[in-house]
Amino acid sequence: MKAELVTTQALTIDDDLWEELMELTQGAIAPCFQCGVCTTTCPWDVVREDGFSVRTLIRNAQLGLSQGFDSLWTCTSCGQCEASCPRGVPIAEVIRGLRYILWKRRNLLPGLSSILWSIFWNNNPWSQPPSLRSEWAKNLNLQIFDANQHELLLYVGCTPSYDRRAQHIAMAFVSILQRFGIGFGILGEDEPCCGEAVLSLGHKPYFEEIAIKNAQIFHEKGVSKLVTLSPHCYDVFLKHYPKINDSFEPLHYTQFLRGLLQEDRFEFHRPVDRKITFHDPCYLGRWNQEYEAPRQVLETIPGITLIEMERHGPDALCCGGGGGRMWMETPIGERFSDHRVQEAKSTEASIIATACPYCIACLEDSIKAQKIENLEVLDIAEIVARAI
Ligand code: SF4
Ligand code: SF4
Repeated sequence: MKAELVTTQALTIDDDLWEELMELTQGAIAPCFQCGVCTTTCPWDVVREDGFSVRTLIRNAQLGLSQGFDSLWTCTSCGQCEASCPRGVPIAEVIRGLRYILWKRRNLLPGLSSILWSIFWNNNPWSQPPSLRSEWAKNLNLQIFDANQHELLLYVGCTPSYDRRAQHIAMAFVSILQRFGIGFGILGEDEPCCGEAVLSLGHKPYFEEIAIKNAQIFHEKGVSKLVTLSPHCYDVFLKHYPKINDSFEPLHYTQFLRGLLQEDRFEFHRPVDRKITFHDPCYLGRWNQEYEAPRQVLETIPGITLIEMERHGPDALCCGGGGGRMWMETPIGERFSDHRVQEAKSTEASIIATACPYCIACLEDSIKAQKIENLEVLDIAEIVARAI
């Protein structure tokens, strides 16, 4: 039966679009009863007078209307709304699903399609040559992963492989593993992009191709334990990859370090006499409820005084770098991280510790932009490396 267009003065309801929306969101928007809690908890409310009306977006999708869909790119996928939704609507997943409509309509922000092309051609979203993927490790004497020799595969990820600042996280973590004799290998130039950027930008079909291919690669290489530096890679490996014979267990590196501490396989020798506040990355905390591992590692380091920011744990303010926002311009005045570093400053800590390359980039930019003195951002791996 041909779909009917019902036109009112202001709205056009399109049955075809309604069906498409229901399919893309798998009906998950139906239970929404329009309470608006999502809009009020969304961090865009902190930086924009008119916030980001998630409620309206969901309402339009329920009705089969695409009005306001341009704003879909706004979401940082922080998960704050979803954690508060009384109807359990998987809002971030719905937004990712709806983004695919924008891909199909070629209604993209400038530069977004080049991210996917870069992953297709270069195996990373940063338009960097694959041949330079392990350049950061050239003097570190690292081995290519061999399941017969190595306890774990260190999955470095695209950002720590290419970004000069994030490379220090990788180097710090490697120094810890080497110092305590942990057998590990990397995949070097053959390490595949995990596809998180593709998933968060909403191109699910391409992400599924990447995930199937990579899961097969890890299975063939006999990977049983895989440690990531980024919580974004950890999250996609854990929740969005197909399980091939339960092939591998992904761990974020803070979880791995906590395990080593519990097994007495490593210890600290040098105190770090600093006040530290911890910024919870959304993809470690809210999305995976891992609030303890990073804090337990930090609290074990002698000399450290850990002070919590007002918003921490499940209430932590997002840095603004998730949901593909690393590849979009956020105007000055709308950066969540500007508020986050002010919260950190008010604790009188001299270090913001975190455990995600995107958080590091956003928080450091805000400290520089606001010319805040006596406050630095360090990854937990860097702090641990100082303490051994
Ligand atoms: S919080 Fe949930 S139920 Fe309330 S408006 Fe948002 S999506 Fe709908
Ligand atoms: S996931 Fe975060 S940024 Fe996206 S709509 Fe929800 S609260 Fe807002």
